Amino acid sequence: RIAYVNGRYVPHAQACVHIEDRGYQFADGVYEVCEVWSGKIVDERRHLDRLDRSLGELSIASPMSRAALGFVLREVIRRNRVRDGLVYLQVTRGVAKRDHYFPADGTPPALVVTARAADPRAAEKVADAGVGVITVPENRWDRVDIKTVGLLPNVLAKQKARERGAREAWFVDGDGMVTEGGSTNAWIVTKDGKLVTRPADHGILRGITRQVVLDLAAREGLSVEERAFSVAEALEAKEAFITAASSLVMPVVRIDGRAVGNGHPGSIARNLREKFHEISELEEI
Ligand code: PLP
Repeated sequence: RIAYVNGRYVPHAQACVHIEDRGYQFADGVYEVCEVWSGKIVDERRHLDRLDRSLGELSIASPMSRAALGFVLREVIRRNRVRDGLVYLQVTRGVAKRDHYFPADGTPPALVVTARAADPRAAEKVADAGVGVITVPENRWDRVDIKTVGLLPNVLAKQKARERGAREAWFVDGDGMVTEGGSTNAWIVTKDGKLVTRPADHGILRGITRQVVLDLAAREGLSVEERAFSVAEALEAKEAFITAASSLVMPVVRIDGRAVGNGHPGSIARNLREKFHEISELEEI
């Protein structure tokens, strides 16, 4: 495998960043994950728009032009011969003597890009069975709309999920409402067939997959309510699912060990999953 690190393509096993990279010391950086599907990058424009926004919110400079970044993404995908999988990019505030203040102007941001193949059939198997989620108290900061590499609460929540035999953890705020998953957005389908997902203005990451699913739902004539829902409402729902570039639309069949709907993936989630790439933007590599 090959990785891109600050201007060089290097063997993955030897890909290193400096010990005083601000990402390493302060989680002072942001990232994006794009799906690679059938030899195409999925929703690249939207991911790079969100990257620009994350960088802007943290006053981190862009490491390079969008065209150059697009080239590096493609080169890493190509050199790793990824046809189906994920491409990951991370930008940090760069390398500087450890000090909380921003480094001197002109300190170049650091850029790392990796790509790896994933077996689409394995993902379909998981989707056919559906996944379980657990619920955990929301304990993250109030800027989770910025896609930072500071993911410790997400790491701890997802590990707890795994230990309980579930795939994802849903954060639940002080009002008992689900915010989102550790690395996914959360959805339910009500008994009368309405899609419900939390508004993306506060308390969640503005998932690209979430936005594409909203567009797809509109095309399919499904009604959608962008509002918060509680764990109790999710347990009463007909269906539940999660969305992310890494798992697309993934049916949820258990919440804290209790069945959602009939305990099997719902038809609306399955249909949205099947049609996802009809509406996502597919870019040539
Ligand atoms: N929410 C969180 C906390 C995430 O980390 C992610 C993806 O990594 C998502 C939601 C889904 O976002 P996207 O659909 O852009 O992958």
